[in-house]
Amino acid sequence: MAVGRVVTEGLRLSSRLALVTGGGSGIGRAVCQQFASEGATVAVADIDEDSAEETLKSLPCDEQQHSVFLTDVTSPQSVHSLVASIQTQFSRPPSIVVNCAGITMDSLLLKMEAETFERVLRVNLMGTFLVIQAASKALIANGSRRGSIVNLGSIVGKVGNLGQANYTASKAGVVALTKTSAKELARYVYGIRCNAILPGFIDTPMAAKVPPKVLEKVVQLVPMGRLGDASEVASVCAFLASDDSSYITGTSLEVTGGLFM
Ligand code: NAD
Repeated sequence: MAVGRVVTEGLRLSSRLALVTGGGSGIGRAVCQQFASEGATVAVADIDEDSAEETLKSLPCDEQQHSVFLTDVTSPQSVHSLVASIQTQFSRPPSIVVNCAGITMDSLLLKMEAETFERVLRVNLMGTFLVIQAASKALIANGSRRGSIVNLGSIVGKVGNLGQANYTASKAGVVALTKTSAKELARYVYGIRCNAILPGFIDTPMAAKVPPKVLEKVVQLVPMGRLGDASEVASVCAFLASDDSSYITGTSLEVTGGLFM
């Protein structure tokens, strides 16, 4: 049985096809850029088509044929047609999947409407499940035995956060979903690894919704004394996506500048 790293010459992700949800903004956009710069062909999926197109324009083109897919990760039909369309266009399923699509809808627990709780769970947790399931089915049917799925959790899923009962619960769920997916998909006949990244506070449009005074206080708690940059999450994504992490599955990597270590 052949095990271990597949050693490739040159770029770490060359000849790989990567699906990135939430690819139109923030961390997702940085992941698309990092992957493309490392040689991957990128399927940029987002519910906001204009921002996904902007990401596409920012990618190095060369011979790779990156593409945009309008997708709502909360809809099983939309996710099914995303994976089917990628297979039609590229004649293979993506062997790398990064689940970046996510939202916040903050409110204190005592005031939070059930719909607000549910909406965040649907995008962040169920959306991640639907994409993992659809992409894994396609990969297994293809018999490729080499996949890597990376899910965006959050450090606040571990420690809780004021006003984020919905968000923190969804992100704790992403970690458990990652571990179960890793256990079920690791076997040799499937060959799919599944890991999570837990960012701290990263300078993106999502973090920009946090009131400046709150962000200032957060920064004071970060040992490295600053917010993270989306590219600093993207480079960890590229490590987990690549064969450099060939014996890592089911783990959660914290990218927090030391916050809540
Ligand atoms: P962002 O708001 O900049 O980007 C999120 C993207 O997801 C947007 O392009 C949005 O259109 C897309 N999206 C939202 N709902 C969708 C849906 N139903 N279907 C498809 N796409 C959808 O956010 P970001 O900061 O780049 O966050 C990316 C991921 O990282 C999220 O899962 C977020 O929870 C997580 N995260 C972010 C931070 C941070 O500080 N920015 C910290 C921890 C975790």
